[in-house]
Amino acid sequence: MPGPGEYLPDATEGITRIEDLPKPKISRRSRNFRRQPCPRCGHSAYRHRQAERLLHDLGELVSGRPHDIHLAYSVHCCTKCRKYFNADMSDLALPKSHYTHRVVGLAVRLVVEDGLPYQAASWHLWRDHRVFVPFATLQNWVEAGGKKGRGPHRRRLSRLGPRQVLRLHRRR
Ligand SMILES: [Zn+2]
Repeated sequence: MPGPGEYLPDATEGITRIEDLPKPKISRRSRNFRRQPCPRCGHSAYRHRQAERLLHDLGELVSGRPHDIHLAYSVHCCTKCRKYFNADMSDLALPKSHYTHRVVGLAVRLVVEDGLPYQAASWHLWRDHRVFVPFATLQNWVEAGGKKGRGPHRRRLSRLGPRQVLRLHRRR
């Protein structure tokens, strides 16, 4: 009988074809309104059309599947000042982002707090949270936040890789 520490590789390791990866679980969310206040002049603006965007969220470990959100939203046109704008979805994700706040927040913490190099953090996000974030994207997030290289933790952990960090935590 193998003990609890037996090493088992991730089930997806070695997969080279994208169609062999586990299929995402799809949730449907809606920010689709008939009217929304215009962000420029406050006028109650009718819906002009409907649109949809895809957001990658944290997956679930139980099924090992990624989690995608199909977000339907309304686009409004203000008849007073001629401004086009989307319904507010800022609780879920930043404008134009393909990832939810939860993914970005976790990813940045992995790098800034835990000191993981970008590639290791990218692998961790896939292996343990089933969300694929290219490490260049991760780097953009961290640099946009301007947090890398700052703070007392960062200074202490900056030269350490994941293994050393684990040892450091164990010693505490
Ligand atoms: Zn307006």
